[in-house]
Amino acid sequence: MKRVSIGLRLTLWYFAFFSLALVLFGTSMWFSVRHSMFRVIKQNLNDNVQGVQRFLEDQPADSSLSRLQRETIEEYSAENEGDYLQIVDEQGNVLYQAQALRAAHSPDLSDLRLLPSGRYKREKIQDGQFLFLSKTITAHGKKYSVLAGMPLRDLYGSLARFREDLLLFVPLVLIVASAFGYWMSRRALRPVREITIAARSIGAQNLSKRLTRLETGDELQLLSETLNEMLARLEQSFARIAQFTADASHELRTPISLIRTEAEVAMRKSRTESEYRATLQHILAEAERTTHLVEELLSLARTDSGAENLTLQLMDVGSAVCESAENWRQVAEEKGLRFTTELLHQPISVQADRAAFLRVLAILLDNAVRYTSSPGYIKIFDRIEGDSVLLSVEDSGIGISESELPRIFERFYRADPARNRQSGGAGLGLAIAQWIVKQHNGTISVNSVLGHGSTFTVRLPVAAISSENTERGTYDCTSLKV
Ligand code: ADP
Repeated sequence: MKRVSIGLRLTLWYFAFFSLALVLFGTSMWFSVRHSMFRVIKQNLNDNVQGVQRFLEDQPADSSLSRLQRETIEEYSAENEGDYLQIVDEQGNVLYQAQALRAAHSPDLSDLRLLPSGRYKREKIQDGQFLFLSKTITAHGKKYSVLAGMPLRDLYGSLARFREDLLLFVPLVLIVASAFGYWMSRRALRPVREITIAARSIGAQNLSKRLTRLETGDELQLLSETLNEMLARLEQSFARIAQFTADASHELRTPISLIRTEAEVAMRKSRTESEYRATLQHILAEAERTTHLVEELLSLARTDSGAENLTLQLMDVGSAVCESAENWRQVAEEKGLRFTTELLHQPISVQADRAAFLRVLAILLDNAVRYTSSPGYIKIFDRIEGDSVLLSVEDSGIGISESELPRIFERFYRADPARNRQSGGAGLGLAIAQWIVKQHNGTISVNSVLGHGSTFTVRLPVAAISSENTERGTYDCTSLKV
């Protein structure tokens, strides 16, 4: 379908409505003027008839017919009112008959007594239209039929001129108004064209470019501001994606080049079986780290694209913590760390995706084990605060400096580069944990003192607290194994 511009469409609508309005206005004006003109003529006819009555009453009551005829002829033959006047008495004697009527021979006008009194009649005589009023009047007790007429030539002439003026004026006004409307709409829509041109020129390469901010104070200004805000968000997202891709490539390059180097060195000359074994073990360890990294990257990519969906169900915090703790207890104790759990007795239910919740615990416990050296401890404990349950993982490890604390939840951020990649991960764990906790309508925070340890706390809204076991105090997961 061919696109018609908004400006043209507005003009066409404007033209259509304006034409309709003008036609209605013109027609009603024409009828109103016509009606007023007829009213004036009718008024004049009535005045004429009343004039005849006054004239006849002024005559002596005993005037003879011939005298009356003489007097009326004298009165009216020289006057305009007499031009189309006819006066007949009860007996049918014509007191006065205008020249024009005599010549007309109109059957309707020839015998006035046949015309009903007080009626108007349009009649064509002498090639012209006339309006006649026939009326019965009484003077000195005698009845007279009076016929008074007036030519409609002037009235029709004026109406025709008025119509011609309208027919000339209406199209002229329409053309001027439509041209003005088109100009106005184009002017009003000019900012839209500017926005369109500017928006066309913005692509992935120049996302920092912005549309000119309009100062129109209307919807268009709001539109340009909204589009600019959208561009800012897109720019941020693009920058994040670009950064993520760069970081991910960088992270993947290191283990892969390590694997390559390891294999190349091993193949330079023939080696003993134990040497090959050692090399393969290194390669395996590096491959495992890479697999872990790829899994984390995939996980983040899925969360970004919205493909990662969590299914929240009622879950008891204590049992989930114990399930995870038992795996990590072993790892911690192997490293010479004291591992304790101090959980509230009451079963506390939260709406959670169990697997995702266990993943958060695994990330926190993995970090705690990784950044704490023997002798040291790791403690998991919970408490209720308002409508939330707070689950904390505390360690007596190396801690995080105050300046780095705000950044540790960022992707690929690793506090203190001195913690080399052998002891640390890729810096993705906490970013994933934070995303998962957010999906549970919760928050994750950290308290840490460099050199003294850290406490990571997950706050989740409580769905229900069982009232069955209201015993206060805490228990250790190991005590559950009866
Ligand atoms: P990583 O995989 O490197 O551990 P994380 O996102 O889990 O990545 O953590 C980001 C950084 O935060 C880590 O590199 C580390 O420096 C710091 N960090 C996290 N947990 C702890 C902790 N329990 N003690 C000390 N530092 C920590």
